[in-house]
Amino acid sequence: MSQNTPTIIPRSEHPISRQQIDTDTLKVLYRLHRHGYKAYLVGGSVRDLLLGRQPKDFDIGTDATPNQIRKLFRNCFLVGRRFRLAHIRFAGNKVIEVATFRRQPEDSELPDNPDDHFHFVQNVFGTPAEDAARRDFTINALFYDIGDFSVLDFLGGMEDLKNKQLRSIGDPMIRFVEDPVRMLRAVEFAARLNFTIEPAIYTAIETHKELLATAAPARVREEIMALFRYKIAAPVLKHCRELGMLPHLLAGYPGTDEGISLLERIDQRTAAGTPIEESFAIAALYLRLFMDSCPPSPKTSIGEAIDKANKIIGPHCRYFSIASGIRHQAQELLIGCFRLARGRGLRGEKRYLHHPQTPKSLELFRLWSQVRSDLIPLAESWETALNNITEKKSSTVSQKIHSRKKRSPKKSAVKKTE
Ligand code: ATP
Ligand code: MG
Repeated sequence: MSQNTPTIIPRSEHPISRQQIDTDTLKVLYRLHRHGYKAYLVGGSVRDLLLGRQPKDFDIGTDATPNQIRKLFRNCFLVGRRFRLAHIRFAGNKVIEVATFRRQPEDSELPDNPDDHFHFVQNVFGTPAEDAARRDFTINALFYDIGDFSVLDFLGGMEDLKNKQLRSIGDPMIRFVEDPVRMLRAVEFAARLNFTIEPAIYTAIETHKELLATAAPARVREEIMALFRYKIAAPVLKHCRELGMLPHLLAGYPGTDEGISLLERIDQRTAAGTPIEESFAIAALYLRLFMDSCPPSPKTSIGEAIDKANKIIGPHCRYFSIASGIRHQAQELLIGCFRLARGRGLRGEKRYLHHPQTPKSLELFRLWSQVRSDLIPLAESWETALNNITEKKSSTVSQKIHSRKKRSPKKSAVKKTE
């Protein structure tokens, strides 16, 4: 599987140019290299550059230890108690992450408590070959060497990039047991890059999908939010549903066709430039389930709706330790959609239209109405009502400014006479 000597792709045979690499990252790479250390660009950035995509961030791998890195850079801070990483800080809160090459430890080296394995595994130093082998997929294990501008391929990642193939490093039957989050990452990268997943990965998911429920919730939460940020929540969760992963990933999320269609609209909204908030994502995930459990009718009180909303998003928020502020916002969005779905002309409508959270709820309701077309007229009617209020507000503000301007010469006139 892993080779100790990589296939070296010289500068003339790959498209990565230094102009595409962030200048501060280049400075760090050069400084490490000048001091005799290996200095590689690693992970997602090499993959993205080879695919002609803009990397999200540039990570650096080196054979310098964290303390050696610290001695080279004045602006360096070692972070993490168990996971020692060097952060090199630059102007504008910019941080470049430098990690010492690591390896997968032997079973006998692992700590007794299995919960500590994930962090421990990340902290045993190794060679570049070992560092490549501990990664998840071959396309994520390519290195760009600043020493001669070549790409180092220990595991056949270049071939897989060419063939648009997602292949596990090592047997996925073993690698997914080691870290079940890799199953979700497989589906995620396939959707992001439009790659085919190798059959062995599918087989391993089929066998080990239940293990997703044992993964650290904080890591699953982070990957789920990454799906929303990368605008691929709909295709990935749909694929997870087809593969039977959903109940182990998001226990309370039903993933119905209608629910997935709503996520498609959310992805489009993010693609159009509205940053996704976690509260909005949670409300979108559970909107359909909430509406089913609490059918909007003038007879249902807001108190009942709050109760139902809590019951539905409560387990998710507890499991993922979501802060109460975010949970509260998600709940408000659901209640907002409930109010909107009950229809116009009910008591308290005027006050509700003035509520600062209402436009956000209407945004979600509007997206939902694109999936449930019977709701379109209602969504439009609310939109008109809300626009009228906003116009009124802004005209009152401009009137006030106008009248203040008119008054102001008098004031100065008074001052002059004083
Ligand atoms: P992105 O563009 O989303 O940042 P990425 O490939 O850089 O994609 P990260 O989550 O930032 O992904 O991780 C950086 C690198 O660390 C990956 O490219 C991969 O090599 C390695 N990695 C991340 N998560 C795992 C994991 N669960 N198991 C093994 N290796 C991992
Ligand atoms: Mg990354």
